Amino acid sequence: MSFSSLDLPKYLLKALENVNYAQPYPIQEQAIPAILERKDILGIAQTGSGKTASYVLPILVNLESSVLPSDKHVSVLVLVPTRELAIQVADVFKLFADAMPYRCKSVAVYGGVNVEIQLQSLRDVSVLVATPGRLIDLLSTNSIDLSAVDTLVLDEADKMLNLGFKDEMDEILTYLPEKRQNLLFSATLSPHIENVRSLLLKDPLVIQIEQQEDQIELINQSAYAVSNEQKGPLLRYLITEKKMKQVLIFTSSVHQANVVVQKLNQNRIDADAIHSKRTQRDRTAILKDFKKGRLRVLVATDLLARGIDIQFLPYVINYELPRSPKDFVHRIGRTGRAENPGEAISFITEHDEHHFKVIQKKMKKFVDTISAEEVSLLLASKVAK
Ligand code: AMP
Repeated sequence: MSFSSLDLPKYLLKALENVNYAQPYPIQEQAIPAILERKDILGIAQTGSGKTASYVLPILVNLESSVLPSDKHVSVLVLVPTRELAIQVADVFKLFADAMPYRCKSVAVYGGVNVEIQLQSLRDVSVLVATPGRLIDLLSTNSIDLSAVDTLVLDEADKMLNLGFKDEMDEILTYLPEKRQNLLFSATLSPHIENVRSLLLKDPLVIQIEQQEDQIELINQSAYAVSNEQKGPLLRYLITEKKMKQVLIFTSSVHQANVVVQKLNQNRIDADAIHSKRTQRDRTAILKDFKKGRLRVLVATDLLARGIDIQFLPYVINYELPRSPKDFVHRIGRTGRAENPGEAISFITEHDEHHFKVIQKKMKKFVDTISAEEVSLLLASKVAK
């Protein structure tokens, strides 16, 4: 199948050629025609499956027919759980919007940055990509009007619809018109998505891309049995011995992320951290540097586990395990994306052993663990060198 058989206009086909998308990914094959027909969609697909372009492309085409009552109105609202994802999704809109023969301005709004600056960019916006908190701030000051929204997208819908965002989501939905197209995308199909499906979606096309196993197959996984004291030395050993050009390391706390960065920097390994205590300005700049290959080691909390697309990231390390097995899959899914192989390494303390068994069972994949004795030998050989 080719993009040209999906009823996309010539100028978009040209733009797709320019970004080297040779043919549509499975989610795109199914979602694009249905979104063009204004159907509701429930797309169950991993990040890395091309789900962003699967809604961005047809939404841009559909925008041709929307006429907005005033410059405060938007046509398309995309809700995402994190600031980084908001920037990334808006960038994909911008990438293709440039090719459109009519105006389709897209803007990302999210917390942690000066609201005044965001306000200035809000005129004549067609596509608003937002995190819920900041959107509510903008709604409460009448800075934006959602009453003409004809398409609502929930990216990482399972996260958007779980309890953490419930109040904010309920409030935002009251600003939207009843009649609209709803597009929900989620990497995992959990029971609460099933529940809201009937509330939000009308006769939806359900697209389930069974990619999870293939994608996990692309990821070479290993684990190391370690003590807490061995984690730092083992990390430095692996980064050096495996000549890691780039690695994303996950910790479970802000404090630990900072400690890891500090230790790496003391050992002259270029590293920085992204977590909730960094300013948004720093978070954006650091992620950009990492994506461009200018930063070697990025240490992050689960803030970065979902949705973030880093091309050709060869390594992910779980310095600490996440509590939820789902987050484990999200984390390691930052590598092995879009057909490029990757390696995911997990550090397992004695305390983690049971939890790691649960994770493997849920993931339906057994991971070889390098024993504590072997780890001690590795580290001793390093000292001897
Ligand atoms: P996503 O799942 O939307 O985060 O996309 C994952 C990656 O796949 C992004 O880097 C996209 O640029 C890339 N991508 C999406 N669709 C295609 C396609 N049809 N051909 C090649 N690359 C694509």
